[in-house]
Amino acid sequence: MKCPKCNSDVETIAFDEVKIERCTSCQGLWFQTGELEYLRKETWMADYILDDGDPKVGKKFNRIVAIHCPECGDDMRQEFDEEQPHIVYETCPNGHGTFLDAGEFTDLVHKTFWDRFKRAR
Ligand SMILES: [Zn+2]
Ligand SMILES: [Zn+2]
Repeated sequence: MKCPKCNSDVETIAFDEVKIERCTSCQGLWFQTGELEYLRKETWMADYILDDGDPKVGKKFNRIVAIHCPECGDDMRQEFDEEQPHIVYETCPNGHGTFLDAGEFTDLVHKTFWDRFKRAR
């Protein structure tokens, strides 16, 4: 498959039974349905392997919003994260997956971590 944003090759990162595609150029991440929910709970993984792209590059590519699902070719929908509306990502309307720009995954899981911390007090 090719990166839906910049059309470069993607590499597969396997983690347990979860396989994430990462773009070799813009470092965006493609999550299949369910994988994102699963990985959000594993906050330590954001630092470990997944999202080491340059957030500045991610911001640049974040402005590209007219992208197509790499599985079915349909226009992807922009969605705001419920907990962190400043994070916008693209999701396939047919449920194939979600694309996050470099840095967005880290942002997502870390904020979630701190939000939980605040709630616990
Ligand atoms: Zn890319
Ligand atoms: Zn699709």
